[in-house]
Amino acid sequence: MIMDYILATHNLKKRDELHRILSPLGIRVLLAEELGIELTDAEETGTTFEENAYIKAESGCRESGYPCIADDSGLSVDYLDGAPGVYSARYAGEHGNDEKNNQKLLAALEGVPFEERGASFISAVCCVYPDGRVLRAKGECRGRIGFEEVGDGGFGYDPLFMAEKYDYKLSTAQLTAEQKDAISHRGAALRQLAAEIGE
Ligand code: IMP
Repeated sequence: MIMDYILATHNLKKRDELHRILSPLGIRVLLAEELGIELTDAEETGTTFEENAYIKAESGCRESGYPCIADDSGLSVDYLDGAPGVYSARYAGEHGNDEKNNQKLLAALEGVPFEERGASFISAVCCVYPDGRVLRAKGECRGRIGFEEVGDGGFGYDPLFMAEKYDYKLSTAQLTAEQKDAISHRGAALRQLAAEIGE
């Protein structure tokens, strides 16, 4: 049986990525607005990406009555012992201010050589069904934090994230959508989730 899924995210750029990656995998995703539903922005009270992804997916499913897919993601910088981690969206204090977050990150790494600027993007995804079933998956993408912002694609920390898969020569903001999806934390997590959904 073909099912429709709803996405629980208010971040438009992230929502585009979720849609873009899941659709060709045969997962039909609807936007809450298309159904005339306004989902509450569930409070992310968890201490891990996994907990927060579940909180968002459970809330979206309960409010819509549809199976709901959510992603909780962020940047984990080795030199900063994993920060900003689950606080990535609000690292500089203001939720979703990418420019301020990037400037704060550059300041925190001032003077740190390139070899010590290793970092991971992490994505935990979760799908909650109205019957209570829960599916989970996780993806990681390695890179290093550059010294200045480059590229204008993507969102968030992308202009600072020099991808290992591109020999640290291109930021994830310089990749095409297809190139980013092929190596990204979100791409990896969603492909695994789609396989579980299909089982
Ligand atoms: P969330 O909406 O609470 O999951 O916050 C995710 C935050 O992590 C975003 O606001 C970005 O700052 C960062 N982030 C997650 N995924 C990416 C990505 O693919 N590129 C750049 N930044 C990302």
